[in-house]
Amino acid sequence: MKKDTRDLVLGIDLGGTKVLTGVINSRGKVVSCDRDITPVAKGQDAVVRTICESADRSVNGAGASVTDLVAAGIGIPGPSNPRTGILFTSPHLPGWCDVPIRSIMEEALGIKAFLINDANAAAVGELHFGAARGARNMIYITVSTGIGSGVIIDGEIYTGSNGTAGELGHMTIDDNGPRCNCGNNGCWESVASGTALAREARKRINEGARTSILDYVGGEVEQVTAKVIHQAAQDDDSLAKELIQHSAYYLGVGLANLLNIFNPEVIVIGGGLSNMGDRLLQPAYKEAERRAFKRNYQDVRFAQAELGHNSGIIGAAIFALEQMNKKD
Ligand SMILES: [Zn+2]
Repeated sequence: MKKDTRDLVLGIDLGGTKVLTGVINSRGKVVSCDRDITPVAKGQDAVVRTICESADRSVNGAGASVTDLVAAGIGIPGPSNPRTGILFTSPHLPGWCDVPIRSIMEEALGIKAFLINDANAAAVGELHFGAARGARNMIYITVSTGIGSGVIIDGEIYTGSNGTAGELGHMTIDDNGPRCNCGNNGCWESVASGTALAREARKRINEGARTSILDYVGGEVEQVTAKVIHQAAQDDDSLAKELIQHSAYYLGVGLANLLNIFNPEVIVIGGGLSNMGDRLLQPAYKEAERRAFKRNYQDVRFAQAELGHNSGIIGAAIFALEQMNKKD
């Protein structure tokens, strides 16, 4: 008997180091999935081929073939326009400039495809099947090496006039702050990300601060990461605790801005730094409470992301499904 594939969608999460593909059903369940290495250095055609091969393995795992599926959703980091399907640039795909990736994938896969920014995809995933189920207005942020984000307004991802809205990680928090990758100074991600935390730790260590942080990295100051700082804080290192408090402060300043601008029902926080849990998040919420409109703080629920590393493929697939349903 032929398998019923009417509610199966292909989700693709294309990163600079790995490609994830998965067959997702309309209830957000990952039916089967696959991962491969992104052959960035070999160029665009090789990357597209790798995506298609991984998609084939995913779809075979679900007992179907690609052309049986409803559509494909592809999530990629970097600014893009979901309406035209053009990827403007991507921080992890050097040389990719104004690439019509949606039509390229449609051609390669033989089904309808939709493009979405990776953090926006994760926001859509958390909205429908993760920590923000049932919300109409929500903000998703992922705090890791940078701060990625997605804004959901009235049940829909908000992408602005050319598709690039919702880059909350690049709101200015400290006008004289550190240089950000985007060229601005003092963006949220330049003061509150894992990269910022590690940078501050290295600076303080180089200035001679007393700390056990270096014991976790064999004395190599360049090896200090947010994860190591968290470990040291768990072991009661006072510099590590102070640095995390400092990150929490900036995280809270940004959250207060979001509460006042968007008045969301839920703010979902994911990414590596959110694994620090209460040590980082509780002081961040306190700082947000101190700064935001009282009613906006009272009416928001903060939640940790639930979908983990599958959020990208689930969100991209559900976004594609939503777009297909709109066409009907
Ligand atoms: Zn920036």
